[in-house]
Amino acid sequence: MRELVNEVHAWLAWAEESGLQNLAPETRPTEPFKVEPKVKLPLLDAVRTELGECTRCKLHRTRTNIVFGVGNPEARLMFVGEGPGEDEDLQGFPFVGKAGQLLTKMIEAMGLRRDDVYICNTVKCRPPNNRNPEPDELLACEPFLKGQLGAVKPEAIVTLGKFAAQSLLRDSTPITRLRGRWREYEGIPVMPTFHPAYLLRSPGEKGKVWEDLKQVMKKLELPPAKGGAS
Ligand code: URA
Repeated sequence: MRELVNEVHAWLAWAEESGLQNLAPETRPTEPFKVEPKVKLPLLDAVRTELGECTRCKLHRTRTNIVFGVGNPEARLMFVGEGPGEDEDLQGFPFVGKAGQLLTKMIEAMGLRRDDVYICNTVKCRPPNNRNPEPDELLACEPFLKGQLGAVKPEAIVTLGKFAAQSLLRDSTPITRLRGRWREYEGIPVMPTFHPAYLLRSPGEKGKVWEDLKQVMKKLELPPAKGGAS
């Protein structure tokens, strides 16, 4: 209990230090509060509330919906993509287009369901014409990715594609060399792999992604699954 209270206070302190505004003092738990067995959803909700109808960067001008993230607040595994595409922008959920369907197959090939994991992006609003997010946009959005990680506390992150890996790891090494090797972000093991959209264009690379996902399964001690996503 004390640990949990400390954790919430630590998150709020971190959020304020990171320059997140409007964490009104009255939202701080001043009284001992009832702790439900599942405590991560309120933490995640607090991050979403803080994001609000965000206008922190120019992407807000062209978005239809903010695409915050979806999945299990208690997930052991988090997938981080680049940024919402057209389908995601219209629906408000990450990875719901063709690439998303392949991601779902990849997750299922690991013996998991989409609902078991947490899925989000480095930026929460669609870059116009699916261009790469720009440094100021990434900077504005990073505290919210950190907030999501701080709330969910996954045991591992899989980054999808060159951009998510390079921006998260602050490393411009080509994705062909980043993928398949464990790295760390904020103390959490990160496995960079190819983006499912790339796999749709180059299905011959699926085997490499499957090798990467098997490493993740091993780290999380998931039972061996039958085979890769087709
Ligand atoms: N590609 C991404 O990187 N993220 C999405 O949510 C959809 C497509």
